[in-house]
Amino acid sequence: MIKLSSQPEIIYLQPKNHEPTLKFWEGLKNRKLLAPRCGDCGEIFFPPRGFCPKCLSENIEWVELSGKGKLHSWTEIHYLTPKPYILGVIDLAEGIGRMISRIEAEHKELKIDMPMKVDFIDVSDKLTLFIWRPDKVDSKHQKSESF
Ligand SMILES: [Zn+2]
Repeated sequence: MIKLSSQPEIIYLQPKNHEPTLKFWEGLKNRKLLAPRCGDCGEIFFPPRGFCPKCLSENIEWVELSGKGKLHSWTEIHYLTPKPYILGVIDLAEGIGRMISRIEAEHKELKIDMPMKVDFIDVSDKLTLFIWRPDKVDSKHQKSESF
């Protein structure tokens, strides 16, 4: 197990062998953020599930997302933890939904709508999780364009 700078020691539970989400977990292991796409109507959706929310088809394919997004909101968790950590909501760049995730950043550097990028952490031999960090390259790029 690894410990992140703003993360207290946490026991991670292994996800169940839930067929509709297996590809998602395999993707994380390979440093890819995957989402299901309907093989019939083309709808891309998140979170993963075994059927299309638009047409109810079970013909599911997988596509890799950009790993980019914007910070919708966040909160700092102090309750029942020896060290505060940040939990945030990310609007996915593809416009298909939001992810709730731990944010690896200092509270004071966060701003609503700031660019974020996904990152991956191996918490055990079998389990890789995603977190989000401020996308500082994109922030600088946007700043230089606006001045
Ligand atoms: Zn569909």
